[in-house]
Amino acid sequence: MTDSTLTAQLAGELADIATAGLSRRRRVLDSPAGRLATVDGKQVLNFASNDYLGLAGNGEIAAAMAAGATQWGAGSGASHLVSGHLTPHDQLENEIAAFTGFPRALTFSTGYLANLAVTPTLASRGDAVFADKLNHASLIDAMQLAKANGADVQRYPHNDVAALERLLAASTAARKVIVTDAVFSMDGDLAPLPLIYALAEHYDAWLVIDDAHGFGVLGPHGEGSLAHFNLPASERILLMGTLGKAAGVGGAFVAGSATAIEYLLQKGRSYIFTTAAPPAVACALSKSLQIIRDGDALRANLMARIGQLRDGLAGRALLPSATAIQPYIVGDNEAAVALAKALWERGLWVPAIRPPTVPKGTARLRISVSAAHTADDIDQLITALKELA
Ligand SMILES: *Cc1c(COP(=O)(O)O)cnc(C)c1O
Repeated sequence: MTDSTLTAQLAGELADIATAGLSRRRRVLDSPAGRLATVDGKQVLNFASNDYLGLAGNGEIAAAMAAGATQWGAGSGASHLVSGHLTPHDQLENEIAAFTGFPRALTFSTGYLANLAVTPTLASRGDAVFADKLNHASLIDAMQLAKANGADVQRYPHNDVAALERLLAASTAARKVIVTDAVFSMDGDLAPLPLIYALAEHYDAWLVIDDAHGFGVLGPHGEGSLAHFNLPASERILLMGTLGKAAGVGGAFVAGSATAIEYLLQKGRSYIFTTAAPPAVACALSKSLQIIRDGDALRANLMARIGQLRDGLAGRALLPSATAIQPYIVGDNEAAVALAKALWERGLWVPAIRPPTVPKGTARLRISVSAAHTADDIDQLITALKELA
């Protein structure tokens, strides 16, 4: 390859990333997703996935996907609005709507695309978006798109309901849209949804909730964060859930009123201009939804393992989180990486998360607990952290 100035510029930036200790690399798994992972011939206990119910490697779901591919073929052939909306897609939407308690749902190929469809479609010139500062990157990008469409965007300090109220009270926007994660992906804490919902009612705002980490896990039957807080399926709420985390497959949905969902279907660019997911994925998800609905035992085991980890590491650097996301704060970037490496050498895979994913000085291990973990798995992690950290 010839060395061009164009390439040299990129190489320079990559070198800067490396010098800052922020280079990222992929590990190649030589095993299906699950509690154990095989990497370079070494088997490790996996605390690094979002597979909270252990369904990514579930045989029944894989069989439903295989049967779906046999019956419906490998691809959808087109976007949903052209000719790519098949019976399994339509059934899945109905099942998700019924499960979440909303009149209607729309499925997307990924959660990233689902988020890109919602906020910029609801908010443009004359409107305002109010977003939590720790929202997921996909919500931030969605907010930037709304801004490019002319919307006023404001970010409030993490979970600061008083600050949100001041912004709402001062706003003269035609349409107000509050956007928040339900469970924050790097801290594991919950948004105060009842308080935020009350503000949405009082200031007549839309409330967009990203339940990527609550769906399947929280609520009496895994319906998610709204059910956890006993909040209604209000017409002002748009609930986004991802289907590649607890649901173990891939994709996402947005649930809401029939009118709001029809609006997204007609106007959401990241819904309209992309090929529908393979129908077999929808078949797999219908099976996954059934397992989630009947998954009380899975959720009970997950909660028991979370409790065990928190008891075992009481008084140490865990952030106060009641969810499957258990962040262990280290602070320094290099120290976080070194700790992750030491755990890896003991056969424990826990990722170090550094800035810019998390604020400077808060590098951490993001321990992800799964219903597939055993009590012994959690004990191994507790012991190792007590010795190494
Ligand atoms: C993972 C995640 C997404 C993106 O979902 P994908 O299906 O992985 O694209 C969106 N929001 C949050 C909070 C997430 O954690």
